[in-house]
Amino acid sequence: MSEIEKFESLVLGSGEAGKYLAWTMAKAGHRTAMVERRWLGGSCPNIACLPSKNLIYSARVASLPRRSAEFGLEMNSLAIRMKGVQRRKREMVEGLHQMHDARAAATGVDLIMGEGRLVAPRTIDIALNDGGTRRISGERVFLVLGSRATMPNVSGPHRGESRRWGAARRRAPGG
Ligand SMILES: Cc1cc2nc3c(=O)[nH]c(=O)nc-3n(C[C@H](O)[C@H](O)[C@H](O)COP(=O)(O)OP(=O)(O)OC[C@H]3O[C@@H](n4cnc5c(N)ncnc54)[C@H](O)[C@@H]3O)c2cc1C
Repeated sequence: MSEIEKFESLVLGSGEAGKYLAWTMAKAGHRTAMVERRWLGGSCPNIACLPSKNLIYSARVASLPRRSAEFGLEMNSLAIRMKGVQRRKREMVEGLHQMHDARAAATGVDLIMGEGRLVAPRTIDIALNDGGTRRISGERVFLVLGSRATMPNVSGPHRGESRRWGAARRRAPGG
């Protein structure tokens, strides 16, 4: 294991809770590390709030031609191509990924992609995504790791939803 690198602020998790904290600390001049194992920016821009609204917006656009007669218009055909819908969503997610990367660089956060694990008081070992490990410590350590929904063990639509959700997660950057 390598030597311990010391930071003033160490933020584990780059989601809504973690990234603003890390960016603000770094901008204020604190030596700050942010550790993220998979989704830079957390679930919201990668697999949750924003991708879901992107898809819902496609559905909204698709719904309007169906009301064309109401507005005195005539539309003869409408085809929904899910590949195009998915591509638009993926491009948005990739753009957001780049934006988060650039924001980390601009604020001076040391962004470390890997899985962190507390091994001693205020000390974290990181299994780096690119291989190898780093051990870092912080005067202040913030664990902002998000949460996970429980799936009740019942048959029916919940299980289908869970499978679709799993597929979306696998297709997200880093997934
Ligand atoms: C489909 C869907 C739609 C949603 N839409 C909305 C919406 O419209 N508006 C709204 O306000 N909210 C919405 N939400 C809720 C919102 O996405 C979450 O509340 C929010 O993203 C949680 O942020 P967080 O920072 O707490 O956690 P997360 O975003 O989960 O961030 C935690 C991060 O920590 C990382 N991490 C965890 N453990 C480790 C570790 N050991 N080492 C390194 N990294 C680690 C994870 O990879 C993750 O990136 C939606 C959620 C879903 C599922």
